[in-house]
Amino acid sequence: MSPAPTVRTRGTLVIDIDACKGCDLCVDSCPPGVLVMTEHETNARGYRYPRLLAGCTGCQACSQICPDFVFQVYKYETPLELPGGPS
Ligand code: SF4
Ligand code: SF4
Repeated sequence: MSPAPTVRTRGTLVIDIDACKGCDLCVDSCPPGVLVMTEHETNARGYRYPRLLAGCTGCQACSQICPDFVFQVYKYETPLELPGGPS
């Protein structure tokens, strides 16, 4: 069996799930495409919300485009290799 693929990950997010209104803008703004909206789970206001996959670069595009200040972006000093890969 080959080892699980890893993805170089330079940043991470704190996501204020209940502040999200499910507009999808962040998903389209993310250059590496590592934000995906939940399919069925909703927040306290009844909206789907984004989840972060491995591979964030810490570029802050999502936090800049989100109208509701849902994201705080943090960059790792040393990039991590996290399990993930093309789905
Ligand atoms: S910081 Fe950049 S790479 Fe990370 S989730 Fe936001 S838009 Fe995507
Ligand atoms: S841009 Fe903000 S409000 Fe819109 S889906 Fe993303 S996190 Fe939610």
